[in-house]
Amino acid sequence: MKLLVIGSGGREHALVWKLAQSLHVTQMWCAPGNAGIAQERLARTQTTVECVKIGAEDVPRLLAFAEEKKPALTVVGPDNPLALGIVDLFQKSGLRVWGPNRQAAQFESSKVFAQEFMERHGIPTARAGSFSEENSARKFAASLGGRCAVKADGLALGKGVLICRNPAEANQAIDDILVQKSFGGAGARIVIQELLEGTEISLHALCDGKTARLFPTAQDHKRAQDGDQGPNTGGMGTYSPTPFLNETQLAEVGKEILGPWLKGCAAEGIDFRGLLYPGVMLTKTGPKILEFNARFGDPETQVYMTRLETDLLELLDASVNGALDRMELKWSTMASVCVVMASGGYPGTYEKGKEISGLEEAGRLPRTKIFHAGTAEAAGKIVTSGGRVLGVTAWADDLAGAIEAAYAAVAKIRFDGAQFRRDIAAQALRCV
Ligand code: AMP
Repeated sequence: MKLLVIGSGGREHALVWKLAQSLHVTQMWCAPGNAGIAQERLARTQTTVECVKIGAEDVPRLLAFAEEKKPALTVVGPDNPLALGIVDLFQKSGLRVWGPNRQAAQFESSKVFAQEFMERHGIPTARAGSFSEENSARKFAASLGGRCAVKADGLALGKGVLICRNPAEANQAIDDILVQKSFGGAGARIVIQELLEGTEISLHALCDGKTARLFPTAQDHKRAQDGDQGPNTGGMGTYSPTPFLNETQLAEVGKEILGPWLKGCAAEGIDFRGLLYPGVMLTKTGPKILEFNARFGDPETQVYMTRLETDLLELLDASVNGALDRMELKWSTMASVCVVMASGGYPGTYEKGKEISGLEEAGRLPRTKIFHAGTAEAAGKIVTSGGRVLGVTAWADDLAGAIEAAYAAVAKIRFDGAQFRRDIAAQALRCV
């Protein structure tokens, strides 16, 4: 079976790595891929994955490529092409594609849609309101004492959420997004949520339009620096499973969220075939959804793929075919930890083109996989080419062992200005 994977980050490297292990796969392209993806070999043929120089958002060229090569399945990694309707377009051309269609992708591409859907269907979430007019937004923020999250409706490269702790900050955030349009058209409408306190976890559920199959728990570390300090990033590290929810509690939370979500989708004619990733705050009054994403998390995927024992291609196939109820999802009992190594200055401005050394040595360590994100090949060397550069991932019988192994691999890798958090999963370790 021939596959096309779309995207270039650590998430896509993890998906490609797992898909390459499937004996069903005979050929794989990745557009545009990265230097690590280009080194992956298919288990069945021992041939490498071919990276194709087409950007993940260049939907017309992706379509032309797929029409020429005729992959049996295209797997879409990132949110932007989903929001652009790549799935609908491929389907219209008779191409099989994995990911939610444009309507279903709205759970991520419109925070107003997601918030109002949750309210319509009794899905536990923060107290919230949606606004396109500044005075009513200010009034609502004032009613929360200014303690709120102000969110641009549309996709804003993960930066469209401003956390406010007093009325002055809230008014400033409303002004920034709604009036000054600092996120452009994405901020024509906003959602204001009460500020929730608790432990934040990531849930992932693979869906096929009528069934949603929950993954084990994972936790991301969004802030740039140790101790959850510094600016928000795309994610500086993850681990799975978390000690904050046991399996019974996870199943309960899943029921509480996915039950009404599936019913709501059915009632509104939304056919969600893809990955639903709710960001959840475990509060004193129960779990509450902060947001929905409509794709695999990055770097959650890196830890999930190192724990998944089922053939990923068979799962994605079942997700497209509406056959997930018949699938068994098997997970290793091991703990997995991913430490992101980023360019100096990330999430602000950073330089590219720094040579990375130690990759081979680190990659030879047992139970370790170095997933590439922002990397490229230049004159036979691997160099940095993005903010998040690598997802150094290791697994072991317990969390302590996985943390130790991941940081042992990190210690072998060097590039100018490399920054990473030294406390990935440390808080969890104190709880186990
Ligand atoms: P989002 O993209 O909506 O998940 O927001 C990004 C980050 O902002 C989340 O991962 C949380 O850490 C934080 N956040 C978002 N909404 C809230 C909220 N209502 N209360 C507290 N923190 C929030």
